[in-house]
Amino acid sequence: MPTPTDPAHVARLRTHLGRQGMELNEKLTKLLAGQNATLVTMKMPWEEKPGEKPQEKLRRFLDTVSRAQKRLGTEAWGLCIDCGAEVPEAVLDEVPWTERCRPCQTKWDA
Ligand SMILES: [Zn+2]
Repeated sequence: MPTPTDPAHVARLRTHLGRQGMELNEKLTKLLAGQNATLVTMKMPWEEKPGEKPQEKLRRFLDTVSRAQKRLGTEAWGLCIDCGAEVPEAVLDEVPWTERCRPCQTKWDA
């Protein structure tokens, strides 16, 4: 812990991250092409930033997903990037691009 050692588990997380990355790429492409991509259904890791354009938000999210892809399989996986605390596995399974533990995330959002 927290690095998943079960290859099937790692593969599942990798798939999850890959899918999310693809979905973000698609939305970004549509958005840049002037089509109206909907962001409402997406689970974004942050609250709204005032004045941030949808494509900036998507890029930020995309960066977060690719950072998670790099962390997966390393010792940094599942550790809060601020304080190093373990992020609960249930959270990572659902939202594998989570970068912060809940207390740090709360501080970040405030
Ligand atoms: Zn933390």
